[in-house]
Amino acid sequence: MAAHDVVVIGAGPAGSTAAYRLARAGARVLLMDKARFPRDKPCGGGVTVRAARLLPFSIDPVVEDVVDRIACGLDFGPQFERRSSGPLAYMTQRKRLDHFLLEQAIEAGAEVRLETTVDARELDADFVVGADGCNGASAKQLGLGGGIVHGVALEANYPHEPRFARAMVLEIAVIRGGYGWIFPKGDHLNVGVGGNASEGPKLRTALRRMCEAYGFDPDAAVERRGYRLPMRTAATRLVHGNAAVIGDAAGLVDPFSGDGMYEAFLSAQLVAEAILAGDLASYADGVARRIGPLASAGWGAKRAFERFPRTTFALARLPVTFRALEKLLRGELGHPGAARGMERGAIGLIYAVSRVS
Ligand SMILES: Cc1cc2nc3c(=O)[nH]c(=O)nc-3n(C[C@H](O)[C@H](O)[C@H](O)COP(=O)(O)OP(=O)(O)OC[C@H]3O[C@@H](n4cnc5c(N)ncnc54)[C@H](O)[C@@H]3O)c2cc1C
Repeated sequence: MAAHDVVVIGAGPAGSTAAYRLARAGARVLLMDKARFPRDKPCGGGVTVRAARLLPFSIDPVVEDVVDRIACGLDFGPQFERRSSGPLAYMTQRKRLDHFLLEQAIEAGAEVRLETTVDARELDADFVVGADGCNGASAKQLGLGGGIVHGVALEANYPHEPRFARAMVLEIAVIRGGYGWIFPKGDHLNVGVGGNASEGPKLRTALRRMCEAYGFDPDAAVERRGYRLPMRTAATRLVHGNAAVIGDAAGLVDPFSGDGMYEAFLSAQLVAEAILAGDLASYADGVARRIGPLASAGWGAKRAFERFPRTTFALARLPVTFRALEKLLRGELGHPGAARGMERGAIGLIYAVSRVS
C-alpha cells in the first residue's frame, strides 16, 4: 500500500484547497511546500465573490476590504465608474490568505510538510497532484503541462489612501494585452501592471505612470515584484495516469483579467472530485466544461481590447455590460457566453470586435 492516498505538491490556493477537500472526505493526504509559512506570493490578492463562493468555508478572517465599486479608465484617457448593490471582490494579502487556507487543510486532517522541495517523480502515493505554481517543476516531471503561454506583471505596495477604499481601479491598455490596477488593503494599496510577455521591459515605466496618473508618489513603493502569468493552450496536458496539475501549474490564469484564484479553487475542487470518484481522467473534462468557456471569453476580451481599444472600451462602459460583469464577478453567471437578453447583446458585440480582421 502506498504511504499516502494523495500527495499534493505546493500549498498555494490550489494545493491547500485540494488537500482540504480530499482530507475532509477521508483520504490520507500529504501536502508539501518548499516554503516556510506564512510566505508571500506576488499577487493583487483580489478574491472575486465568484471565487470565494467556491470555498466550503468563509475567508472573512483575512479579508481587509470589500470592493463594490469599479473605476475603469482607458490608458489614462476616458473613465467611468460603476457601483454594485453588493460585494464584487474581497481584498486579501496573499501572505495571510495562503496561511489561512493551509490552516484549513491541516484542520481538515491533511498531513503537512513545509520547507521541503519536492521532486514529483520520487513520491509514494496513489495519486499525485502538482499545484506548485507557474515556476514549479512538477508538470514537467510528471509529463504534463506544455504549451503554456506566459504574461508578465509587476506590482508594488504604496501607503493607504482612503479615497481608494471599497474601489477597484482598472486602467485598461496601459500595457499591451493587459491593464493596470489599484487594489485597497487594510493598511496599504497594491498597485500593479500586467500584460503580454513582450511588454516586460515596459512594466517599470507603466507602473510609474499608474502612480503619477492617480496622484501618489512612485518612489514610495515597497515590495516591488515581478512574476509570470501562465495561460494554457489546447496543447497543455492536465492529467496522465495517476497524476494531474491544477491552478497555475496547469496554466489556468484567465487570459484577460490575469486572475487565477477562481481557477485555482475550481481546479482543486474538480481534481478532488475526480480522485474521490476513482476517475482522475474526468478531471480534464471538468476543466474543459467549467473553465474552458471562461478562458475562451478571456482570450476574446483580450484580443478585442488589444486591437480596438476605443470601441471595446465604449462597449464596456455601457451599463448593460456592467450588469453582466457584476453577475460574472459574483458567480451568478458561469461565463460571458451564458448571458441573456440585452447583456448577451453587449457581450456579443465585444466578441464580434475580437473577430474583426
Ligand atoms: C502580479 C500578480 C497579481 C495577481 N493578482 C491576482 C488577483 O488579484 N486575483 C487573482 O485571483 N489572481 C491574481 N493573480 C494570479 C494568482 O496569483 C495565481 O493564479 C495563484 O497564485 C495560483 O495559485 P496556485 O496555488 O496555483 O500557485 P501558487 O500560489 O504560485 O502556489 C504554488 C506553491 O507551490 C510551492 N512550490 C513551488 N515549487 C515547489 C516544489 N518543487 N516543491 C514544493 N513546493 C513548491 C510554492 O512555494 C507555492 O507555495 C496574480 C498574479 C500575479 C503575478
